[in-house]
Amino acid sequence: MKKAIQHKGKVILAGAGPGDPELLTLKVMRYLQKADVVITDRLVSPVILDEFVNKEAQVLHVGKQCRKGASTPQSTINEIIVDYALQGNLVVRLKGGDVSIFSNVLDELQALVANHIEYEIIPGVTAALGAAAYAGIPLTARGHATAVRFLTYYKMEVIKDEIWKDLATTNDTLVFYMSSDTTDLLIEKLIESKISSDKHIAVIEQATTPLQNVYECNVYDYAEKFGNSSYASPTLIIIGKVAALHKQFQWLENSSSKENYFKAVVKTGAALSRV
Ligand code: SAH
Repeated sequence: MKKAIQHKGKVILAGAGPGDPELLTLKVMRYLQKADVVITDRLVSPVILDEFVNKEAQVLHVGKQCRKGASTPQSTINEIIVDYALQGNLVVRLKGGDVSIFSNVLDELQALVANHIEYEIIPGVTAALGAAAYAGIPLTARGHATAVRFLTYYKMEVIKDEIWKDLATTNDTLVFYMSSDTTDLLIEKLIESKISSDKHIAVIEQATTPLQNVYECNVYDYAEKFGNSSYASPTLIIIGKVAALHKQFQWLENSSSKENYFKAVVKTGAALSRV
């Protein structure tokens, strides 16, 4: 008697871009048209899910939003991905922006390798690049910066003085992810560490979406102009001489809206919602 061969599926770990659905790559779009299951983060445009995912596919929301306390534990996400793949499905794991920037892709890769599941990784436009483009800020503009750093800053973090000094004095452009709640503190620390007065800050709210807003000023004017602001999520911070270029090269008007583009599908208490 022939032994039944278990047919394993495949997982596509894919970046969906920062918001504007047209920033999705053709490669990801084609996989969404073939997928059996799509497992998506909160920061993925609803338009991508509505328009590009084939109608037969099952769409699972495993959004994380630490601030609001609604999230699916990473171990559960790993299990869901592995289970569907082992059942023979083509699974697309969609992440906001790029797959590898400030994401839990490592855990997911480890789970896939441990279960001998085939996978592909497809890049996406990370928020820093989307926000920079849609705010008219060339991140390493000649004469302004020769490098760019992708960083994050939480309130609880203890950062040594030498590091603040380095961040304040470098000519690299600094991009902070997941740091909008700490903007006041960040600016305070950089000023304490004597950041030069030709550095500007641009706070880009809901970048590349129709609800984008950019708040830009000299770092020394920030406290007075925008101090104590509460920004709509998601928000990205760009600090450096290049941020001043926004005034000259901005091509998109502010929406002046505080409405949320990315809806929280997962409600507090519910680990997972199936659509
Ligand atoms: N993998 C994502 C980042 C996930 S971390 C990427 O490559 O973009 C989530 C953080 O990304 C948010 O807190 C915010 O700082 C930033 N972010 C994601 N999408 C954004 C958007 N449309 N506008 C502004 N910031 C965004």
